[in-house]
Amino acid sequence: MTAYPHLLSPIRLGALDLPNRVIMGSMHTGLEERGDWDRVAAFYAARATAGLIVTGGMAPNREGGVFPGASGLFSDQDIANHRRVTDAVHAAGGRIAMQILHAGRYAYSPDAVAPSALKSPISPFPPRELDAEGIEAQVAAIATAAHRAREAGYDGVEVMGSEGYFLNQFLSARTNRRTDGWGGSLENRMRLPLDVVRRVRAALGPDLALIYRISLIDLVEGGQAWDDVVTLARAVQAAGADALNSGIGWHESRVPTIATSVPRGAWTWLTARLRREVTIPVIASNRLNTPEVCEEVLARGDSDLVSLARPFLADPDFVAKAATDRAREIAPCIACNQACLDHTFSGKVATCLVNPRAAHETELVVTPAVAPKRIAVVGAGPAGLSAALTAAERGHHVTLFERDTRIGGQLHLAYAVPGKEEFGPLIDWFATMVERRGIDLRLGQDATPEDLAGFDEVIVATGVRPRDPMIPGQGLAHVVTYADLLAGRATAGARVVVIGAGGIGFDVAEFLVTGDSPTLDLPEWLAEWGVGDPGQTPGGLSPDGAQPAPPLREITLLQRRPEKPGRRLGRTTGWIHRASLAMKGVRMLGGATYEEITPEGIRVRLNGEAVLIPADTVVLCAGQDSERGLAQALLALSREVHVIGGADIAAELDAKRAIDQGTRLAATL
Ligand code: NAP
Ligand code: SF4
Repeated sequence: MTAYPHLLSPIRLGALDLPNRVIMGSMHTGLEERGDWDRVAAFYAARATAGLIVTGGMAPNREGGVFPGASGLFSDQDIANHRRVTDAVHAAGGRIAMQILHAGRYAYSPDAVAPSALKSPISPFPPRELDAEGIEAQVAAIATAAHRAREAGYDGVEVMGSEGYFLNQFLSARTNRRTDGWGGSLENRMRLPLDVVRRVRAALGPDLALIYRISLIDLVEGGQAWDDVVTLARAVQAAGADALNSGIGWHESRVPTIATSVPRGAWTWLTARLRREVTIPVIASNRLNTPEVCEEVLARGDSDLVSLARPFLADPDFVAKAATDRAREIAPCIACNQACLDHTFSGKVATCLVNPRAAHETELVVTPAVAPKRIAVVGAGPAGLSAALTAAERGHHVTLFERDTRIGGQLHLAYAVPGKEEFGPLIDWFATMVERRGIDLRLGQDATPEDLAGFDEVIVATGVRPRDPMIPGQGLAHVVTYADLLAGRATAGARVVVIGAGGIGFDVAEFLVTGDSPTLDLPEWLAEWGVGDPGQTPGGLSPDGAQPAPPLREITLLQRRPEKPGRRLGRTTGWIHRASLAMKGVRMLGGATYEEITPEGIRVRLNGEAVLIPADTVVLCAGQDSERGLAQALLALSREVHVIGGADIAAELDAKRAIDQGTRLAATL
């Protein structure tokens, strides 16, 4: 008897039989644009146990691309490339649908087109308003792309009608100011999306699946009313869709929808509401990352299927492990966006912080060791753990030394921060895998050079220690380090100055202003971000605005760099951290020169002007230095060592680099 009877039960989607309820949701990897189709094929084939894979968004024509050169299905040559992908997935026993995505005014391109010439807040390019002929050309291009998808061997298509893209732009008066037959009344605004569905259905024929991704809550002012969403959903069903996937929030919305601080399953109440209005299957989406959460959603009747995207980067075998009683071995997606979306928005190939092999299946290959070695790893933070796991996976005999009485290193500091609860399951996963791979774990042991004699390879992953900022007065009793504060070895008073506004300074400020984590309390989280009911306010933003809980303390966050603090945080998540602290009244100041910490507070110069900022506690978050004592001792004995993670380079260290470096090193030993 499986623990996931709903998740693992088959379902029919149009003419398609799916063996389970799990859709691998659409994600852009950036591989297609590089023309490396073998790698694209390997990426999807590795994930073939999903009930159905949906590809990253493919443009139907040049102007519909998210950026110039975005991949699509424009020609017979493209069909041949896509055929390699579908063949690989089918050979692996899977099913795959292609998402058709027309970006409309979200295209980062001077060729952008839209219902009205209204620039979006997230692109510098004003779009060109389409005339009737132009509209027909776009619809025809989408239908042609669907026809080519069929030729390429796909099992269906998903029409992207949400997230503020082209179809969604026609639906909302916010972006559609037309006065002709495609604007004004709801009937007119629905005309293009419905035309698209009808013609895509005709292009696909009856035997391929058609999923329509519908925006359930736009989370922008002037978004769609719930009644309009229902009217559209029924009309989309009548026009030939086999299933409705849930789209949540436009990309220009200022409400987080998939970040780690968003509660798990935060949006399934909307899918549940939609499910009552249609008879075709509906798919829940966003922040569904474990079999348990998915099973609950399905068992509650919120949806017929679940769509998970990033969790398939973290672990391609999500379904296979859930089905064989190995759910604890599923590498968890922590919803950090650091290696997936942040890479995509920086023009890099997407991968995963937890699993650097994602989208690198043909390049980072882990093979059995020819001759197993005895390998010592010192330090059970993310770098050491990853090296140990990969080495053990290859058949090496691994001994892992850790000074602390538990594994995880700096991951524990992140876990202490409200909104970063996903780090807990990540630590648990490492612990499970250390045990499953038979690693000899020596906790509470500060490894010495003598302990490391007799190993064939020694990997030093001893991490970092807080940097000493050398500010006069920092020896006073009310000055603490972030490490002591987050580990519970120090406490803070009512007024706190945080020195250093990097990732950790922001985390510490969040820790200090927040009581119980809203991430663990959905109604509170929705109120905090001003999410209301789309049945009452079109778009779903609450008329009361954001209602954050009162801050626990008065915080001033300082940095020396004369720029807005938080500018260098994650590309797709930095704005959430900045907005969250701003909502809680945190003062964030750049251009500070630290003169002296006094019993009253800290004397600083702010852009030249001398001020005393009163504080009961000063927290030092001034970055880190490498902990290299052991590495140096070994080198002094002329021993060969591999130094990785923060012990190697402390600057800009994060778990992504640590895990990547540990995995890559161990793959070569
Ligand atoms: P960091 O990002 O390098 O920030 C260090 C801060 O300390 C900066 O604000 C820096 O700004 C200041 N600083 C540096 N040297 C100083 C000195 N001598 N005296 C006073 N201030 C000094 O390091 P971190 O915040 O410790 O974070 C460590 C790593 O973890 C980073 O790579 C970070 O990205 C990562 N992390 C990421 C997240 C995330 O959410 N993705 C969260 C936490 C940590 P000024 O030099 O301008 O003063
Ligand atoms: Fe999930 Fe982070 Fe991996 Fe992206 S990088 S898939 S958000 S764990």
